[in-house]
This record gives sequence, C-alpha cells and structure tokens, in this order.
Amino acid sequence: MNSTPTLPPRPRILIVDDDRGTTLVLSHLLEDIAITQSTTCGTDALRLAIESRPDLVLLDIEMPDISGILVCEQIKAHPDLHDTLVLFVTGHGDAQIEALALTAGAIDFIPKPVNAAVVRARVRNYLALKRQRDQLRQLSTVDGLTGVANRRAFDIALNREWARARRSGEPIALLMCDIDDFKQFNDSYGHLAGDACLHDVAAELLRHTRRAGDLVARYGGEEFAVLLPNCSSADARTLGEAIVAAVATLGIPHAGSRAAPHVTLSVGAGLMAPHDRAPQDLIRTADAALYRAKRSGRNRLEMGEQ
Ligand code: GH3
Ligand code: MG
Ligand code: MG
Ligand code: MG
Repeated sequence: MNSTPTLPPRPRILIVDDDRGTTLVLSHLLEDIAITQSTTCGTDALRLAIESRPDLVLLDIEMPDISGILVCEQIKAHPDLHDTLVLFVTGHGDAQIEALALTAGAIDFIPKPVNAAVVRARVRNYLALKRQRDQLRQLSTVDGLTGVANRRAFDIALNREWARARRSGEPIALLMCDIDDFKQFNDSYGHLAGDACLHDVAAELLRHTRRAGDLVARYGGEEFAVLLPNCSSADARTLGEAIVAAVATLGIPHAGSRAAPHVTLSVGAGLMAPHDRAPQDLIRTADAALYRAKRSGRNRLEMGEQ
C-alpha cells in the first residue's frame, strides 16, 4: 500500500457578484488561500459550481439576473453540492433579508465594503470547518483498508437507489462478491498479505465500475457488494463475469485454495425492479446466488432468480 503522505488538495472558492470590481478584489485577496473562480453572472453560478465543486461560494445577494438567495437555494438543493458552504458578501444589513439568506442554507455573511483582514480570516475559518467536515464524512463512509465505500454508505446508497428506481421503474442489480477460501489465504500468507489482497481485489472492482451511480462497497470481511442502478440482466452478467475473470488474472498466489492456485472470487448477482419488493429481497437473492456459486466450485458467477 502507498504510505507516502499526500498534501490535501487546495480548497476551491467560487465568487459570484455582478460587480466585477468586487470579484476582482475578492479573487486577489484569496488567491494564496484557495483556487478561485469568479463570475458576474448569477445564473451561471449553479453550472460553475456543478463543474468545479467549490468548497466555498462567496455570493452576492443583489444581482440583476437572479437573487443570490435563490442561487443559494439551488446550490443547497443539488445532491452533489449540498455540502458546499455558502457565504454571502453583502452590504444589506437588513435583518429580514439576512434571516432569509441563512434559512436558504448560507453559513454566514461578510459585510460590504469588504475588509481584507476580515474576509481572509473568515474564509480561512470556514475552509477549516469544511475540511473537518469532509474528513468526518470520509471517515464515516469509506472503508479504511480498501478505500471503497463502507457498509454504512452501502446501506444508505441502496435505500436511495431503491427509492429512485421505484419512481423510475428501472431495475437495480447487485453483485455480491466473496473471496474464495480467504481464511486459508490468511493462514498461509498472514493477515498483512490478506489485507493487501483485499485492497487489490477492491481496486479491481473499482476499475470495472465506471458508470455514475455504480457503487463498490466492502459489505463485510472479505465480501464486497457492487450496486448497479438501472442495469439490465445482460449487463449484470457481463460485468460479473468480467470481475471474476479480472480477479483471477491478478494472479495472486493462493496455494490453499480449492478453486485455483491463485486468488479467485465467487459472485452472486441479483436483479430486480423495486416495485412491490424491499431492498432486503435484492440482498437475499444475490446471497442465494453467491451460495450457489460457492457450492458449484467457486471462481464463478451465478445469476439469481428475478
Ligand atoms: P469461502 O470460499 O467459502 O468464502 O471461504 P472463506 O475462507 O473465504 O470464508 P470464511 O467466512 O470462512 O473466512 C473469511 C475470512 O476472511 C476469515 C477472516 O479472517 C478473513 N477476513 C475478514 N476480514 C479481514 C480483514 O480485514 N483482513 C484480513 N486479512 N482477513 C480478513
Ligand atoms: Mg450586486
Ligand atoms: Mg470467502
Ligand atoms: Mg465471506
């Protein structure tokens, strides 16, 4: 595993103000603190935020094309952006409007005309807060050993995708992937080698899931779940077979395996349309298929009943 310490990525700030002078001043003030991007067009803000995923948006309230408060609501309502901090930069001082802005999801205000020291200090503080928040989210959703989603994140994603598929009528596929004779692998090569193997298998699963919405998770121990929203039975089969082949092709020696002289995976696929079913039914179906894959020799994919 790579143990070289990596620097945290530079924070990103999007500056939105119809007055070009203000955007220039703010960009200049913050250029050594963050990567800044600015626009004088309020209606461009959401698109730019989606593209560049800023940590912080500095937002004017009064703009001719759109109200900053509406922009703030749009940002907070977007599923990929609701963690973005919005800081209003405003000369208003009107309590009612400030209350509206905070209700729309803004974290705070910076008064206009801007004071350089105040802007820099406040932005630094909020970026530190954002970084802590991101770290907490990372710790609570990512499996530390393999870097894929943890069980908690999987459960949340499954329920979310289930609700979405129920509305759209699209099917969801689930691949339950279990390393073959992994207890024996640990016994033969040690737990550190076992950990490295888990890491490499997870990386292989990630390499094979490229569509937005697909999720690889560590379901438990040496078992991974691959969630595939809006996936046909044929595509689930193709992907499952590709994963089984790819893990075998890694060629990680496994002398004690009953399936092959190298590390292999057994995969059970479940596929269903959520109508009248529960997420647990999908897990049960994939589990049953995985059990059949184990029973019929391991190192293979079995498709579950639909
Ligand atoms: P099968 O082919 O039927 O799946 O057999 P198996 O040996 O893989 O299954 P079993 O459930 O008996 O053993 C799973 C093993 O996975 C036992 C456990 O020590 C190992 N394991 C679970 N989590 C970790 C981990 O984080 N690191 C390491 N190194 N091993 C782990
Ligand atoms: Mg303005
Ligand atoms: Mg196993
Ligand atoms: Mg297992």
